[in-house]
Amino acid sequence: MNKVAVYCGSSDGASDAYKAGARALGRELAERGVALVYGGACVGIMGAVADAVLEAGGQAIGIMPAFLQNREIAHRGLSELVVVETMHERKAKMAEQADGFIALPGGPGTLEEFFEIFTWAQLGLHRKPFGLLNVNGYYDPLVELLRHMAKERFMQEQYLSAMIVEEDPARLLDRFSAYTPPAVKTY
Ligand code: AMP
Repeated sequence: MNKVAVYCGSSDGASDAYKAGARALGRELAERGVALVYGGACVGIMGAVADAVLEAGGQAIGIMPAFLQNREIAHRGLSELVVVETMHERKAKMAEQADGFIALPGGPGTLEEFFEIFTWAQLGLHRKPFGLLNVNGYYDPLVELLRHMAKERFMQEQYLSAMIVEEDPARLLDRFSAYTPPAVKTY
């Protein structure tokens, strides 16, 4: 794996644990020589993961729509900042570049980006690993909802199993390397 896309909150979250988790992931990526691809902001959890990558000597690539450059405050110290026109372009560029996808704690924007990748795995539009870094159990209620979906047969069990959930970044990335994609969804 050369590059991993990380989706994450533009807010700090209520506990310092979230930024600490983001920093731990950033350091782990840099140590493995895996470049970070992310939204390009210097605020919130987004800034924390990028700073940790750069401080550990890694590569951080930001992809940001022009209209958000001032609002989300583009990170000025990145290895590369790609400015695009639209949110759709941002997601497409991140998806193209990355060999895997991780969501750190975040809000609706983070989930929107992550679930596009989740659903593309179901449709067989990519065969790359995807998962949640479950810092402080943040994603426990979401995992519970997904289990409910599978139990109520609105999602096949194989897609729940395909999504990797770990609290420790090293374990998450180890499992990414051993990932086998699920079968393409049939109806
Ligand atoms: P949030 O998790 O809501 O703090 O948002 C995290 C990041 O997701 C921010 O950089 C948002 O600009 C971005 N985002 C929100 N919605 C979308 C979208 N539809 N497509 C691409 N990025 C988005």
